[in-house]
Amino acid sequence: MYLIKIIGWDRRYDYYENREARLVYREGEMVLWISKRIPKPEQYKPRDVIAIDINERKIVYGNHEINKDIGTAVDRAYKWKVLAESLQRKYSSPRYPAWKRRRGVLNRIRSYHRKARNILEDWARKSPLKIARLAVKLQHAVAREDLTGLINSLRKIKNKDHRTKLIIMGYSRFVKWIDWQAMKLGAPIVIVDPRDTSSECPNCDSKLEENGYRRLKCPRCGFEADRDVMGKLNIRKRALKILGISGRSLAPLTAPQMTDVNPNRWGNL
Ligand SMILES: [Zn+2]
Repeated sequence: MYLIKIIGWDRRYDYYENREARLVYREGEMVLWISKRIPKPEQYKPRDVIAIDINERKIVYGNHEINKDIGTAVDRAYKWKVLAESLQRKYSSPRYPAWKRRRGVLNRIRSYHRKARNILEDWARKSPLKIARLAVKLQHAVAREDLTGLINSLRKIKNKDHRTKLIIMGYSRFVKWIDWQAMKLGAPIVIVDPRDTSSECPNCDSKLEENGYRRLKCPRCGFEADRDVMGKLNIRKRALKILGISGRSLAPLTAPQMTDVNPNRWGNL
């Protein structure tokens, strides 16, 4: 009798009803295919956009009034990678020539790597859910930048360090989950061109100038904000254009759903 260890599966389908399963052996791998019943969700008509600006340290999201941010999990995951590395270095020194045979140590190293991955995976599932829920509550669409180019260019870096690998993983998982959560909750999702989202004024399209640490200012209209906030506003603006929603560029929104949300709030949820 053989025992097959399951090494992973697509968690997005966990909550759907299982249908038939098929075990397939292909190219040296056993794959268990399980079909699921997934009801087609209905999309609402959005009145505005929750835009998401992503960088390796944090995610800034909201519309022109709401400003929320969530730190990424890269630093937290990275700590475990460092621990794994140092353990590996310690036991690969000549004093421990047989470290690879020391099962206990090897398992610990592996568990640290797994821990790093789990932290990132967990973050990539939970933060999109928060964002998608906010969008649904306000009946907004969700907008994000197309990160394909960025992810590909990071992937091309030779001899990537652990940090870069975690950033790539974080971006690609996040993108997968935000699209999924939005779709599942019926929020329309808009993917915009990432070019110049943090160098153009969201008010008048002029080129922004640096104005201190991560601050940007428009020399023409005087609009000033953090780099991430500029990014968010530009992503929202592009998404509004794609959706054909206009006339409310940076004007206040008067939806009744806004009453229990504190505008311009900073800090974590
Ligand atoms: Zn301007």
